[in-house]
Amino acid sequence: MTESSFGPAPDPGASPPLCFDIAVVGAGPAGLVTALALARVAEGTGTRLCLIGPPPRGPAAVGRDTRTAALMESSVELLRQLGVWQALSVHAAPLQAIRIVDAANAAFAAPEVVFRAEELGLAAFGYNIPNAALVEALYARVAEAVRVIPHAARQLAFGEGGVRLDCEGGGTIAARLVVAADGRNSLCRSAAGIKVRDWRYPQCAIATSFEHERPHHNVSTELHRREGPLTTVPLPDPHASSLVWVTGAAEGEALMQLAPGAFAAALQRHLYAVTGAIDTVGARGSFPVAGLSAQALTGPRLVLVGETAHILPPIGAQGLNLGFRDAACLADRLAPIFKHGGDPGSGSVLSGYADSRRLDVMTRTVGVDLLNRSLLTGFLPVQAARGALLRGLKAVPALRRFAMRAGLAPPTPLPSLMRAGR
Ligand SMILES: Cc1cc2nc3c(=O)[nH]c(=O)nc-3n(C[C@H](O)[C@H](O)[C@H](O)COP(=O)(O)OP(=O)(O)OC[C@H]3O[C@@H](n4cnc5c(N)ncnc54)[C@H](O)[C@@H]3O)c2cc1C
Repeated sequence: MTESSFGPAPDPGASPPLCFDIAVVGAGPAGLVTALALARVAEGTGTRLCLIGPPPRGPAAVGRDTRTAALMESSVELLRQLGVWQALSVHAAPLQAIRIVDAANAAFAAPEVVFRAEELGLAAFGYNIPNAALVEALYARVAEAVRVIPHAARQLAFGEGGVRLDCEGGGTIAARLVVAADGRNSLCRSAAGIKVRDWRYPQCAIATSFEHERPHHNVSTELHRREGPLTTVPLPDPHASSLVWVTGAAEGEALMQLAPGAFAAALQRHLYAVTGAIDTVGARGSFPVAGLSAQALTGPRLVLVGETAHILPPIGAQGLNLGFRDAACLADRLAPIFKHGGDPGSGSVLSGYADSRRLDVMTRTVGVDLLNRSLLTGFLPVQAARGALLRGLKAVPALRRFAMRAGLAPPTPLPSLMRAGR
């Protein structure tokens, strides 16, 4: 690729760009997994790949992420195939069952429903892993697999044959395809003129971890309150769980102001029957509960993955699993190009990627939105329908299995790197 393939002329005094076939922008979990998945399918083909983004714990990283990610079995399979699972398994707790306790339906009280992985013949639905451990293990592996440019991208110029990226610190990169994984406020997405539809819910989500008296037995508990679900997810210590407490914005703010002991007491008031006494609570992070859908999943020589393309409320553990499927689908699309030659930024690659992702992204976005709104609404017919659904799920094993499969896997075939025994 030559400099003349780009639109705007570069500064004549500037040093020539470093040239790559593909540049992944953003060192969050979705970008890191994409870089590794592409490196995996490009092995032995001479494809030039790079990852652009500040390292997870570099000067630009803010605090330590208090979130964990419940990753479904297909996402865990992807991590196995990318060679990172061994480093992660010590941080991971299996999710063998999910218990839903309805605390929302005053008028139509529903029974407790327990979904067990063994009902589907699985040892676990997936594993719960702290984000910080996940990102660190992925970053260490990426640094061995592709060229890492540890700076933020500052500006993009799209040309016919490629994209030029100017980075913080003065470096310039040229790439035939850019994978935008730079998150919610993506520079790449806006440089390509891709609009988003975004919306807020009147809620926030507090993410933390805590220690408790009774063992969790690898069961995640979702307490469905009117303000939003309060979810505990097992950690490797049988007496420790992570927490995602979705609640009204004002209550969330007040909870964030509490001293650790008072927060533990507030949590215990909701969870005592499940966890027993709650002692130590870790650092808390508060996240807005919001949704975002990019109006297109591709732009000129650009594809979007992870939260750059879609943001879901943290309910039902869907967000990063969806981002991992973006990465693995893109690897499927690009594998034949790497192997047989061709332009990774061509229109057919871009449209093939967008077509393969649309249904999965749309069904998850709509599904999680409906689930959240069905809790928030005071509309009696919706509450009645929710209660009836929970009663049906408790009583009818086939319905329960259907719901579990729908939660675990996309409505489209899984990409190759997410299938066991590939
Ligand atoms: C409370 C909570 C709980 C959750 N629990 C789950 C769960 O259990 N299961 C699940 O699947 N999902 C879960 N999610 C969703 C999951 O956390 C997100 O989907 C995931 O962290 C998003 O990763 P990402 O890589 O797409 O984006 P980010 O993590 O936002 O990464 C974006 C990266 O881009 C970098 N960047 C930004 N601008 C630039 C630039 N100009 N140049 C270079 N780099 C740049 C940033 O530094 C960052 O590293 C949860 C979310 C929340 C809020």
